[in-house]
Amino acid sequence: MKIMSVNAGSSSLKFQLLEMPQEVVLTEGVVESIGSGEVGRYTIKIQGQKFVKEMVIPTHAEAVEMVLNDLVERKIIHSLDEIEGVGHRIVHGGNKFTESVEITPEVKEEIRKVIPLAPLHNPAHLIGIEAFEKALPNVFQIVVFDTAFHQTMEEDAFMYAVPYEWYEKHQVRKYGFHGTSHQYVAHRCSELMKKDLKDIKMVTLHIGNGASLAAIKNGKCVDTSMGLGPLAGIPMGTRSGTIDPTIIEYIANVEKKSLKEIMTDLNKHSGYLGVSGVSHDSRNLEEAINKDHNKRAKLALDLQAKSIADYIGSYYVYMQGIDAIVFTAGIGENSSAFRERVLNRIRVLGVEYDENKNQERGKEIKISTDNSKIQVFVIPTNEELAIARDVVALKKKANK
Ligand code: AMP
Repeated sequence: MKIMSVNAGSSSLKFQLLEMPQEVVLTEGVVESIGSGEVGRYTIKIQGQKFVKEMVIPTHAEAVEMVLNDLVERKIIHSLDEIEGVGHRIVHGGNKFTESVEITPEVKEEIRKVIPLAPLHNPAHLIGIEAFEKALPNVFQIVVFDTAFHQTMEEDAFMYAVPYEWYEKHQVRKYGFHGTSHQYVAHRCSELMKKDLKDIKMVTLHIGNGASLAAIKNGKCVDTSMGLGPLAGIPMGTRSGTIDPTIIEYIANVEKKSLKEIMTDLNKHSGYLGVSGVSHDSRNLEEAINKDHNKRAKLALDLQAKSIADYIGSYYVYMQGIDAIVFTAGIGENSSAFRERVLNRIRVLGVEYDENKNQERGKEIKISTDNSKIQVFVIPTNEELAIARDVVALKKKANK
């Protein structure tokens, strides 16, 4: 059965078409610069070959229609009837959703209600959903939430020590993100360890442009580094991670900046980019260090590594031990230097790794030695597959 995994952003639409349950990717692509008024770009990958079209794409509805028609024209499917399910990635599910659900008017309303918590993402997701509902009106569709996996956190992990009314009136609490990825690699890790997830204390590190950690115990997420929004936690490509909130008031006063400008600085001009002044991309920072001994590039990477090690230490205490650590996402999967930086800082926990194995990139591998007290894995994430699996499971459950 053919299932589509969809990730609609404010001006983009990413998709993957999978043959399930065989878990084969038939094609994947992205439409960019939707609604910008400028020439947009549609890229589709078929059997390793990329095809690019450029044109003005006014709305998501047009983007969806264009993609679906193209799938038929390129004979990836014979007709739209072959698509039996669609899964949409949703960044914020508030505290209502603990798992993926079939889309109903009530579910859409709940996603709408939490727009204030994810003002950039959730409106775009809703537009994506409605575009697919229009194009494929009789097809089974579900939503998969980035926040759902983290809903098992206890109060002492998800509450902030702020006026309680903020929580009661405005749902101020920690939600966490990248849940689909953390959950996917956690399950994969338990398979590789041949142990039930319930019997493993694990920390998963999703480190890409956005980056977060999750602490997993008894098969459940018990803590995570992102918070009410995805700005919290460790420093990232362009995001600061958690900072002293006093800085905000101080910069507003000395730089005469508005709250909006400061939030833009923290989201877009901080992290690797802000500290190094070089780039948001870890590859460019490594190059600046190796070629020019760039001190600020090194500092940017060290700040992140320290923060990650601090989180791992705190999770070690919170879970009373760690059995396994998993690296995933763009940097976690590909950068051996990054993994080295982190692992060297947590040797005190009894971590030992094999330097040769750590040189491997982008493939499933255990990089810890047999003597290591914590097993360390690199596991490529696959959020699209996790979404497609949920579509199949919910479709079966709903008998549709
Ligand atoms: P993601 O957000 O998971 O797609 O990760 C994107 C980030 O991964 C990029 O900005 C790079 O910093 C990093 N990245 C991707 N490929 C590599 C690589 N081969 N080596 C080091 N870092 C990489």
